[in-house]
Amino acid sequence: MPSPYDVLVVGSGPAGGTAARYAARRGLKVLVVDKRKEIGVPVQCGEYVAHNDEVRAIFPTVDGLEDLMEIPYRVREVDTPVIRVWSPRGRRYDVPFRGFTVRRDRMDQGIAAQAADEGAEILTETTVTRLHGDEVETNRGVFRAKVVIGSDGPRSTVAKSVGLEWPVSAPAMSATAEGDFGDATDMFFGNLAPGGYAWIIPKSRCANVGLGTWQHFHGNLRELFDRFVRSRHLEPGKATGGFVPVLGPPPRTVKDNAMLVGDAAGMVMATNGGGNNVAMIAGRIAGLTAADHLLDGTPLDAYETRWRSAVGGPLDQGVRIKRLADRFFGSDRLLEVAMVLIGRRRMARAIRCQRLILPSRAKAL
Ligand SMILES: Cc1cc2nc3c(=O)[nH]c(=O)nc-3n(C[C@H](O)[C@H](O)[C@H](O)COP(=O)(O)OP(=O)(O)OC[C@H]3O[C@@H](n4cnc5c(N)ncnc54)[C@H](O)[C@@H]3O)c2cc1C
Repeated sequence: MPSPYDVLVVGSGPAGGTAARYAARRGLKVLVVDKRKEIGVPVQCGEYVAHNDEVRAIFPTVDGLEDLMEIPYRVREVDTPVIRVWSPRGRRYDVPFRGFTVRRDRMDQGIAAQAADEGAEILTETTVTRLHGDEVETNRGVFRAKVVIGSDGPRSTVAKSVGLEWPVSAPAMSATAEGDFGDATDMFFGNLAPGGYAWIIPKSRCANVGLGTWQHFHGNLRELFDRFVRSRHLEPGKATGGFVPVLGPPPRTVKDNAMLVGDAAGMVMATNGGGNNVAMIAGRIAGLTAADHLLDGTPLDAYETRWRSAVGGPLDQGVRIKRLADRFFGSDRLLEVAMVLIGRRRMARAIRCQRLILPSRAKAL
């Protein structure tokens, strides 16, 4: 059997590509496998990325963002300075929030290319079916690796193989619609997307349009999506769906020689469904911790502490806010009132997963 890899990364999204890039930069022998034929295709994303200034405000201890975010910035399409939050009855709350849109396929491909430039090997059309100690079983045979990084999404095969919990996730769907959509990002709340929201995110001469749902939804996502695009007179192309972690990370993300990162570890901001930035921040921590482990003997468990101290606080806060919002999400009438009471400034804090002072109870959440 050939000599084992130091690190095998399962899944080449933003989390896995970034983990591989930083592990390979430290001189490790890294293999990335992805089941897709072409990395990043099909796109299953709203293609929105938060600006580095917002990331610094939300996660103040995270540094080195210029190097980390080089590719998203290189493939950016439209700068969007404001999120327009729409209530069920059409009240509009303009929340200043700096973000930009990307071609997500190009972003994932660019990050994978950075990993390859650092020396990582990349194999597409390679599906991991099981992990057994240092053996990783795939449709192309068995590979051996000292450390395995599971960046294979919310229904992670790596997590399942080593007995780690899957994050709670909910379905979402999006597509591209042609047209000129300005530069504001729209989020529509109410029973048009029960428990979640619908979005129109401006891109270059088109927009990413879609919606995500959660616990109050028991119907057909496609019908809901069609109803939304019809109501906005949009004519989208082919829609793709996926699952978004909605209740934050599970209790453990490291076991034996495996670490989970990105959606596989539920690293999504529960109040806005954004996971791209966090996946890359934690991907870097995973890659560097694998290197510390193999080169200096740092326990792999250090990963758990490191990523939680970098991004765990806001992720947990986002879940607390989301659970509160879930109480209103079933009813457009209640949600309308709740949004008036919460107001624009608290919405801005909620979107950033920051603590809220609630008017009725005058208590911090
Ligand atoms: C419809 C939708 C819209 C979204 N919109 C936004 C948004 O606008 N902004 C934002 O920040 N976040 C958004 N998100 C969330 C965001 O897409 C994720 O948080 C982000 O992609 C996480 O990156 P990742 O690398 O962890 O996982 P992914 O990007 O999902 O990558 C996982 C990779 O693993 C591969 N894989 C899976 N299983 C295996 C296996 N067994 N063997 C080999 N390879 C495997 C897959 O092919 C895939 O390439 C959205 C999600 C959805 C579903």
